[in-house]
Amino acid sequence: MKFSRFSGIILSLFVIMAFSSMVFAASSGDEALQKLLDGNKRYVEGKFASKDLGDSRRTEILKGGQHPFATIISCSDSRVPPEHIFDQGLGDIFIVRVAGNVVDPIALGSIEYGVEHVHTPLLMILGHSDCGAVKATLGAKGEPEGNIGAIVKKIQPAAKKAKKKGGSNEEVLETAIKENIMNVYSDVMKSPIVKELVHEGKLKVVVAEYNLATGKVEMLELPKVKHEMKKSEHKTEKKVEKKEEKKTEKAH
Ligand SMILES: [Zn+2]
Repeated sequence: MKFSRFSGIILSLFVIMAFSSMVFAASSGDEALQKLLDGNKRYVEGKFASKDLGDSRRTEILKGGQHPFATIISCSDSRVPPEHIFDQGLGDIFIVRVAGNVVDPIALGSIEYGVEHVHTPLLMILGHSDCGAVKATLGAKGEPEGNIGAIVKKIQPAAKKAKKKGGSNEEVLETAIKENIMNVYSDVMKSPIVKELVHEGKLKVVVAEYNLATGKVEMLELPKVKHEMKKSEHKTEKKVEKKEEKKTEKAH
């Protein structure tokens, strides 16, 4: 009797610990996002926080290791440096920068390193207005070749969709930029590591666009279709499980 009561207490403790770690993970993703948005507000207002970029901070993050609070995939464009636009210092953000903020296995591997090994609770996919890589893709003629062609190929589905939707040149460019951000999100979510961490509540993934003119980072809505797909994936899993259960019952 005493033993069962003791195991009950242990079990309850485990449940509480598991629940609080899930709540903590979710809140740390939200907190990390708020930290970025607060930093962006300071950047827009020109009221930068004082940062230690000297010897003492270098020593601190060398001895203590890096503990950035967010992983960001953004464009290589010199006008979109995440540390500046989010007003962050040394060791604060784990960044992957590629022209057109697209991902290939190496970029995706770097993102996975940031979220799984460096344990950032937040992953942001950040595109930006007037993106040269997207602009070049919209104007590209013929079959893209070489290494730059590999970037163009990645952006082409977004460019095609935007052209089909139509509008002025500016509107087509803006649509293509947003479509490209959503395509990158969809590519990132194909990573089993990212998917698992999101599923476990340990990682929050967000999509955003930086405005070159205003300096503001605008949060975008995650594509709804992907969420529905995820739910239906779960349903399919359950259906498969049920079918297997029935098969087992029949076998007995
Ligand atoms: Zn760009």
